[in-house]
Amino acid sequence: MNLTELEQTLVLIKPDALKNSLTGYVLSQLSEFHTALRFAGAKIVQVSQMLAEEHYAEHRGKGFYPSLIEYIRGNVHYPNEPDKRRVVAFVYQGPGAIQKIRDIAGPTNPHNARDNKPGCIRALGTIVPIKDEAGNFLGDRMDNLIHASANLGDAEREIKLWFRPVDIPPLMRLYATVKCQEHYYLKNNQLLTSYEQGSLLLVAPGDIVWQSDLEALQLLHKGLPSPCSIQTVAAKYLINESTEND
Ligand code: GDP
Repeated sequence: MNLTELEQTLVLIKPDALKNSLTGYVLSQLSEFHTALRFAGAKIVQVSQMLAEEHYAEHRGKGFYPSLIEYIRGNVHYPNEPDKRRVVAFVYQGPGAIQKIRDIAGPTNPHNARDNKPGCIRALGTIVPIKDEAGNFLGDRMDNLIHASANLGDAEREIKLWFRPVDIPPLMRLYATVKCQEHYYLKNNQLLTSYEQGSLLLVAPGDIVWQSDLEALQLLHKGLPSPCSIQTVAAKYLINESTEND
């Protein structure tokens, strides 16, 4: 089987889709019958601040960024029901997976989606004006129901951000894995190799991890430059670990 046939993409069913009971609809649109793609991974995630910021790192500093983080964390659609704040994350696999799902999702902006691609998933989304406490218009938030990786590089980064290797069946893993030999903990954004009170376990000896994660952890622990930050690696290992109100 060649790499194109194994291509993978990350799909997130966002909180607005959950709130509007569109999960089944989205999954039908993406079904193997319609797309020839298969699930390689699936999980329900309460999105932490760290995970949200890592996922949307490319938008940091933009005007809509704070509302985007609130949106993906579910704070917007479930302001008084924190237990319902979640997204459903999938890895889909198969020939041309990235472009196939981007096509079915449609344009980022739901108004464009309705105008230019009626019938796509995001045509069912909305644009919500954001105002400050005095009622001044600050910009728009695009509630567009679904995230789908944009290209091969984003797909790898995003799948490794949301999924551990063991979340994906061994024969469906696309990226290199290794067995970890050390403990790594996180405490106050610092990486530790032994437990201290208040630290959170990321990985332990015997765990199967993405090779790129372990290489990053080893560099970061030595204080050397790494291709990604501690948070990029840590966010996934802490998914659904805590009930922090961060
Ligand atoms: P996508 O790949 O089509 O989801 O688009 P991006 O990855 O560029 O953006 C991620 C999310 O940020 C989008 O789904 C939108 O919710 C939001 N977003 C992106 N660009 C804009 C923008 O120009 N204005 C606003 N308000 N939101 C945006």
